[in-house]
Amino acid sequence: MGSGFWMNCPKCKERYSFSFGAGFLTFTKNIERVVYYCPKCGNWENKEIKTGPTPEKSLKALEDFLEKGVPLPELLKKKRHFEICQKCKSRMKTMKDIDIDNLPILVCKKCNEKLKYDMAYCWD
Ligand SMILES: [Zn+2]
Ligand SMILES: [Zn+2]
Repeated sequence: MGSGFWMNCPKCKERYSFSFGAGFLTFTKNIERVVYYCPKCGNWENKEIKTGPTPEKSLKALEDFLEKGVPLPELLKKKRHFEICQKCKSRMKTMKDIDIDNLPILVCKKCNEKLKYDMAYCWD
C-alpha cells in the first residue's frame, strides 16, 4: 500500500497530491513513487521510479561522491540517483514517505506560493 498527502495553495486554491511508495499494481512492476523537491526554491516533482536491488556498495560510493567529491565508478555514473532542479539547478532531495512534522517547503506550480499541508491518505 502506498501513502500520500494533499497540499493546498492558499492563494490560487490549487490542490496537489503527493504520493509515495508502491501500490498493489506498481509493486509487482518494481515501480515506486517518490517526491523530488528542491531545498532552495521549493520546486518539486512527484515521479515514478524503477526500484530494484540497490547494492549497499553502490550507495556508499554515491555518498562518498556527493560528500567528498570522490570519483564515481563508471557504472554508477550512468544511473541517475538524483534530479537537478529545472528552476535553479540545485540538486533536489528525495522524499520517500510522509513526515508531517518535517515537511520541506513546496511551492505552487501556478503561482509560486508556499503550499499548506491538508491531509494524508493511502492508496493501492
Ligand atoms: Zn497557487
Ligand atoms: Zn530549485
